[in-house]
Amino acid sequence: STFQDLGLNDDLLQAITDLGFVKPSEVQDKAIPILLNSEGDLVALAQTGTGKTAAFGFPMLQKIDINSQTTQGLILSPTRELCLQIANEMSQYGKYCKGLNVVAIYGGSSITDQARSVKRGAQIIVATPGRMKDMISRRMVDISKIQYAVLDEADEMLNMGFKEDITDILSHTPEDKSTWLFSATMPREVAAIAKNFMHNPQEITV
Ligand code: AMP
Repeated sequence: STFQDLGLNDDLLQAITDLGFVKPSEVQDKAIPILLNSEGDLVALAQTGTGKTAAFGFPMLQKIDINSQTTQGLILSPTRELCLQIANEMSQYGKYCKGLNVVAIYGGSSITDQARSVKRGAQIIVATPGRMKDMISRRMVDISKIQYAVLDEADEMLNMGFKEDITDILSHTPEDKSTWLFSATMPREVAAIAKNFMHNPQEITV
């Protein structure tokens, strides 16, 4: 199929053309129609390098309300490097989504600068769990209106000991949001997260 077949809008299709993406990768082919056409949860087994950032990124960019400054999408990722990479990709994918603000939140960098960026109005936040939890407890960020939460590299985040932080962060988000979990592997701990925090997730494997 083509990106057009998947139902992506013109702003995203133009960015895809600019990036030189010719056709959707397998995870994009499987995830994008599900995420665009249904509200609800998804568990995707996919390695890095498969194009998974765009698989959750395009649907998130299409579904959020760009005209609102409210934080609507949250992407949790295990490391600062991944966080910056995802935020950068999201900004590129959304380059024609006028007014879009993607902010990266991670440790080892000024928390007040990050709080200032969030305050300017970020529809999408990409964060590492530790710094995210810290900013929530300091009321520097409001995630009470989140509609889409992505747990990226869930197995890595749990390996790194972020289970408590993730649980705490999710407790500050609305019950009726959609949760999209991406993981390269499905150990017991990841299955438990899916079972405890998600509702009848659709499942895809690539
Ligand atoms: P990811 O698995 O999300 O880290 O993506 C791996 C790399 O593939 C990134 O550099 C993307 O820019 C690139 N990419 C994602 N989707 C496509 C596509 N459909 N065609 C070509 N490259 C892609």
